[in-house]
Amino acid sequence: MTILIKNGLVIDPSQDINKHMDVLVKGKKIEGIYPPGKGPKAEKTVDATDCIVTPGLVDMHTHLREPGFEYKETIKTGTMAAVRGGFTSVCCMPNTHPVNDSVAVTELILERAKHGSCNVFPIGAITIASESESLTELEALIKAGCVAFSDDGMPVTNSLLMRRALEYSKIFNVPVIAHCEDMKLSDGGAMNEGFVSTLLGLPGIPKSAEETMVARDLSLCELTGGRLHIAHVSTEGSVNLIRDAKKRGINVTAETCPHYFTLTDDALKSYNTNLKVNPPIRTKKDKEAIKKGIKDGTIDVIATDHAPHHFDDKNKEFDNAAFGISGLETAFALSYQLVEAGIIDLIQLIKIMALTPSQIMDFPKGTLKENSDADITIINLENEYKVDSLNFLSKGKNSPFDQWTLKGTIETTIVKGKVYDWKEDKKDKDKRELIL
Ligand SMILES: [Zn+2]
Ligand SMILES: [Zn+2]
Repeated sequence: MTILIKNGLVIDPSQDINKHMDVLVKGKKIEGIYPPGKGPKAEKTVDATDCIVTPGLVDMHTHLREPGFEYKETIKTGTMAAVRGGFTSVCCMPNTHPVNDSVAVTELILERAKHGSCNVFPIGAITIASESESLTELEALIKAGCVAFSDDGMPVTNSLLMRRALEYSKIFNVPVIAHCEDMKLSDGGAMNEGFVSTLLGLPGIPKSAEETMVARDLSLCELTGGRLHIAHVSTEGSVNLIRDAKKRGINVTAETCPHYFTLTDDALKSYNTNLKVNPPIRTKKDKEAIKKGIKDGTIDVIATDHAPHHFDDKNKEFDNAAFGISGLETAFALSYQLVEAGIIDLIQLIKIMALTPSQIMDFPKGTLKENSDADITIINLENEYKVDSLNFLSKGKNSPFDQWTLKGTIETTIVKGKVYDWKEDKKDKDKRELIL
């Protein structure tokens, strides 16, 4: 099967392409990129007029919840949500039940992912059951298909184990992804500690709960020369620590998530539990520092930290509600606001949402180069739409962005040559259907 994607503005940071071109897909691969109208004939054409054509987006931080929490999300629904959000590859965190700390769990995820909609790359646990007591068999997990290690959801509380993990990360050349949280400092907290938490009478999580662990892990990274990646950066202090570390040549990369540069803790005055996330949404000053960190490259990647929950897990008093945002289906449009605001340009946005995460994970995605996998996203940047979380393909409807009007709709997602196309429903502009 050959498919010609015509009339689109091709944006591929890996080849410095930012112009109107036609893209030819043959089977599961990209056959070539041609000047408009100069491409060979194909069996099928996809019209990308008024759209950008980019490498498929890559999310290096997703919670697919399977095995163990299938009532929150499954590999099937999570990968459908990914494709709906323009992501063609996701890396799934190991805090499932059981934790992905063994070859058996990794194999099970990969087996089930064969029936999923997008590419799935498992992340293995650093420690058994993510309990910070003993390291997992990193080498065996890599052989089974794990692309990185993390105890996400939990920090590695034992500093010596974190040191060992970073030493191994150098030997095996895989990243160790740190969920930076001092559990004693964050204990019992529900939101950012500060003026608003005092006002609302909710227990706070101080910024230092994150920053002390960022500082520790940067120090261990410097000591070992390992490959450290800091997950979900939320504070100004963390941005500053990472910036300084990079200046000193420390081998660290970092990510943030759309909610940290879109919202402030002021929004929590609504007591909407969909705003409860870990680390918490911080202050305006932090939000601005995150944007600055994205602009100057201190923050390398935008990830979703897609954390779907069942309605019952969120429909509780704020203190007792679960942490997390269902993020895959709003991530691109929220991130595109950075381009609209002039903070980064479109090429930079596609780079940090597709190419850089692939480079950090060391898999050959995030590019439209000839002969690479035909993972492609087609986006209409002018199209406005209203977020309707009840229409999410994810089982998790827990989005604080419900009913927001955003710009930038995913029109078509192609995964290894398979086309997922969403056409506007004639009656309801916001309701889109998945056509397989
Ligand atoms: Zn985390
Ligand atoms: Zn996470």
